[in-house]
Amino acid sequence: MLKTIAAFDRIGEENAFAVLARANALAAQGRDIINLGIGQPDFRTPDFIVEAAIKALRDGHHGYTPATGIPPLREAVAADLHKRYAVEVSPDSVMIMPGGKPTMFMAILMFGEPGAEILYPDPGFPIYRSMIEFTGATPVPVPIREENGFAFSAEETLSLITPKTRLLILNSPANPTGGVTPKAEIDKLVAGLERWPDVCVMSDEIYDHMTYDGERHVTLLSYPSIRDRLILLNGWSKTYAMTGWRLGYAVFPGKLYDYARKLSVNLHSCVNASAQYAGLAALQGPQDAVARMIAEFDTRRKLVVEGLNTLPGVSCITPKGAFYAFPNIGRTGWKAKALASALLDETGVAVIGGPDFGILGEGYLRLSYANSADNIRKALQRMRDFLSGRKL
Ligand code: PLP
Repeated sequence: MLKTIAAFDRIGEENAFAVLARANALAAQGRDIINLGIGQPDFRTPDFIVEAAIKALRDGHHGYTPATGIPPLREAVAADLHKRYAVEVSPDSVMIMPGGKPTMFMAILMFGEPGAEILYPDPGFPIYRSMIEFTGATPVPVPIREENGFAFSAEETLSLITPKTRLLILNSPANPTGGVTPKAEIDKLVAGLERWPDVCVMSDEIYDHMTYDGERHVTLLSYPSIRDRLILLNGWSKTYAMTGWRLGYAVFPGKLYDYARKLSVNLHSCVNASAQYAGLAALQGPQDAVARMIAEFDTRRKLVVEGLNTLPGVSCITPKGAFYAFPNIGRTGWKAKALASALLDETGVAVIGGPDFGILGEGYLRLSYANSADNIRKALQRMRDFLSGRKL
């Protein structure tokens, strides 16, 4: 019998991938499936970005790069953050990562151990809790409430910090709720954090481009008082429709940068060289494809929210960010995961049950509107028929 460490019995995963596999299996059997489950843009990576990767390969960029990423890309990330947020970030604190997830993996690994407490949003991205449990640290959920527009509450977050708290994970715009936390709330949180100088903050800003209704993203990088203990997670996956490229970046403060560099050397050596050149083109090239994609998401967001609010027993607040809606299904009489699987089996609509994002996700579904307006309309009609008990 192989004797592996117990931590592997505690590691979780992302049910969106299981739902994707199930939806694909049903589609392969000839079922007409509409996938509103997976969190990835349905757009193609813009051509000029693809071309930059091909050119990089043709130009001979086949080898290892520095573990922290090619210098021009780190400089371009710093310049992009300066352009968009007027924040000073040294390229020496920017690390190119194989996607967004490795940053949370490393950050949680740096602070998680038995006896430590790590605060994370619930409902929230499932990998936060999974990794916290893997390290043996105590996961402390920060409730993300519908009545608060799915923003985090500074007061509630601060009330959960104890002398054992090592890391606070924030995510705005948020998965799975689409919630955006207003600046005033972030100001309050950061002011309160001055009382807790030993708490590191990891801000997952992977959806920072995707805000609507004139809402402007507020980056945690713009708060000098926490810059020496702030880890920023961001990347290309969502903004440039590049989920499969595995390209992200982190900003690590002080000695954490070198820890992350060593982890990278031990784990993946470096990020795929041609993907890094693609990422450089993405940041330095025209941004109109991003603007078009976000405008399209905005149209679908309205469509999905309007449609959801006409379903029996369902209500949905208008999300201000990302590309998710998080309808409240409390009055349908269904448990969320049971409804999600019935919808897939009986109507061919793939959505994710709220509890896959945490205990407080019960009573909600997550719909990703990264699908065509036609498919969204069709999916909503099928859901309407199903919930009103009409024969399908
Ligand atoms: N953070 C959040 C909040 C996400 O929703 C996701 C992906 O769904 C990630 C991070 C991971 O991004 P990546 O695919 O670049 O690893």
